[in-house]
Amino acid sequence: MSLPPYRGGLVDPSLVSPQVAFLPAGAQATRPEELSQRLGIDPEQIALLAANENPLGPSERAVEAAATAVREMHRYPDPEQRKLREALAHYHGVTPEHVFVGAGSTEIIELLVRTFAGPGQTVVGGWPTFAAYRIAAQVAGREFLTAPLSRGRLDLAGIAALVDLRTKLVFIANPNNPTGTHVGLRELVAFLNRLPPETIVVLDEAYADFVEARDYPASIRELLPGHPRLVVLRTFSKAHALAGLRVGYAVMAPPLVRYLELVRPAYAVSAVAEAAALAALEDLEHVERGRRLVFRERAQLLSSLRRLGLRPFPSQANFVCVGGLEGVCEHLERKGLLVRSLTGYGMPDAIRISVGAPEANLRLIEALEAFLEAREGGV
Ligand code: PMP
Repeated sequence: MSLPPYRGGLVDPSLVSPQVAFLPAGAQATRPEELSQRLGIDPEQIALLAANENPLGPSERAVEAAATAVREMHRYPDPEQRKLREALAHYHGVTPEHVFVGAGSTEIIELLVRTFAGPGQTVVGGWPTFAAYRIAAQVAGREFLTAPLSRGRLDLAGIAALVDLRTKLVFIANPNNPTGTHVGLRELVAFLNRLPPETIVVLDEAYADFVEARDYPASIRELLPGHPRLVVLRTFSKAHALAGLRVGYAVMAPPLVRYLELVRPAYAVSAVAEAAALAALEDLEHVERGRRLVFRERAQLLSSLRRLGLRPFPSQANFVCVGGLEGVCEHLERKGLLVRSLTGYGMPDAIRISVGAPEANLRLIEALEAFLEAREGGV
C-alpha cells in the first residue's frame, strides 16, 4: 500500500522540492510551554506523557560527566566517538568497527536512507510506525511502501510481500511505535530468511530495554552473525534518559558502518553527549531502576485502562496505545496532561500514553474516567 499525500498545513508548495511539499504535517506533539500559556497552567503541573521520555530523569553520573565535558567545549569532539564505540562494543560483545554512533537514532535513520537507498529504490515498513522512516524516505525522494498493521502488530508477511528488486531498506520497529507491540524471534527469523539477501533490514530497538516478552530476540547476539545486511538500532533517549542530548547508535557489519561514515556530517555527536552516554551506559543501576518503574507502572496503566472498558494494545514499550477515545486530547490537556494524539498516524480515536511516574499515571486514569463518565452521561 502506498500512502496518500497529505496536504494539511502547506503554505506554498511551489517554494520547496516536490518531496517536501508532500510531507505529512502536524505529527508534532503539543509543547508544554504552549499548553501552559494557552491554559494558564503552572508548567510544573503539566505531566509530560507524550514523548516516551524517562520519568526518573538522568543518571547523576551522566550529569556529572556532561558537566565535566562542558569545560572542554572549545574543542571539537572526536568525530569517530572512539571511547563510546569501544564501550558499546564491549557491552554488546562485538568490535568497535561494528558500531556507528549518531546524534540520536533519528539521525541514523536519515543516514541509512541517504547512504543505502538510491534513486528509484524503495523503502518498506509497516504503518502506523515511527514516522521518521517515512519522512527520511520522502525527503530523499524514495518511495516508502507500507503494509497495514494486523491488530496493532507489524505484519511481517505483508511487509515481505512488498519487498522486490527495487527495495533497498526495510524498517522494523520492535517494539513498534506507536502501538507498543513486538514481534518474536521465530517470526523474525522466518521473515529475514524470506527476503532477498541484498535487502538491508533495520531492526529499530529503541524500546528494547522495556521488553518483558520471552520470545523477544537478542538480535545482536542471535541474528547479526548470520545476517550481514542487518542493522540493529538503539538509542540513549529512553532507558538511558538522555533524550535531550541526542545520542543513538547502530550495530551492524563493519562494511556498512564504513559507508555510513562517508555520508555523515562531521561532528554531529557532541563531546558532551558522548561523555554523558558513556557514563549512562555504566550506570546500570539507574537503567534498572527505570525499567522496574516502567514494568510496574505499565502493568498498572494497562489494567486500569481495561477496568475502564478500554482495549489497549499489549505493550512491551514505555508507552501504551489505546483507541476508542475520540476527542480526549483536549480534555486531558485542560487537566495538564500531555499525551500523543495519533490522528496523524491515521488513528483518530487513539492516543499514545507514555508510562510516567506513579502520580502522573494516576492523574491520567482519573482524567480518563471523568471523560468516559461525561461521555456516557451525555454531558
Ligand atoms: N525509533 C523509535 C521506534 C522511536 O520511537 C524513537 C523516538 N520516539 C526513535 C527511534 C528516536 O529516538 P532518538 O532519535 O531520540 O534516538
